[in-house]
Amino acid sequence: NSDINAVTVTSKKIMSHYPLCATHLQRGLMTTSHLKYTGRQQLGIFLKGIGLDVDEALKFWSTQFTKNSKLTIDTFNKEYKYNIRHQYGLEGARINYRPWDCATILNKPKPSSSEFHGCPYRDFTQAQLQQALGERGINSQQDLNAIMDNVKNHEFTTACTRVFELTHQKELLASSKTGQAAQQEHINHPNLYFDRSRQLER
Ligand code: SF4
Repeated sequence: NSDINAVTVTSKKIMSHYPLCATHLQRGLMTTSHLKYTGRQQLGIFLKGIGLDVDEALKFWSTQFTKNSKLTIDTFNKEYKYNIRHQYGLEGARINYRPWDCATILNKPKPSSSEFHGCPYRDFTQAQLQQALGERGINSQQDLNAIMDNVKNHEFTTACTRVFELTHQKELLASSKTGQAAQQEHINHPNLYFDRSRQLER
């Protein structure tokens, strides 16, 4: 996991393995240079789960928070450093937090208009979701209808699993030919999405 660091977590290569929720948080952070508490938790522990160590995490968050000069590094260190170290179990009760699964994410209060946490399959408008799916190359009406049906039925992880399969068709086919990991797995965790996607790339 040595290729996961403060710089690469926002690279195209690494972000190509992010599920919609992580992409949305990462973009929200990059464009606003801020994330509120729940978003910091959801993204921070996801990044820890993909292999970002605490030193790189502090570099990453401080760079993002200070890059448009809204915040100085002193303020970051005073107000946010503890929070990031806490995510790694280095402060307070020293709990080694595990990345949130989809059920945990769906159990949190929905994001307000200035927040980016949550699950886009639940929280996006239909137009927003359609655009996000288009960016992932999902344009066929049939595929979009199937995803929207899942969303309407509140089957958010089923929608997410379908998107994973549609966006990894070639890799899934290749891996089934070589006999490994042929069978499908339901995506119920953003880190499972990431890990499976990276595994298929190898
Ligand atoms: Fe993220 Fe889970 Fe929603 Fe997929 S279903 S976008 S992994 S919260």
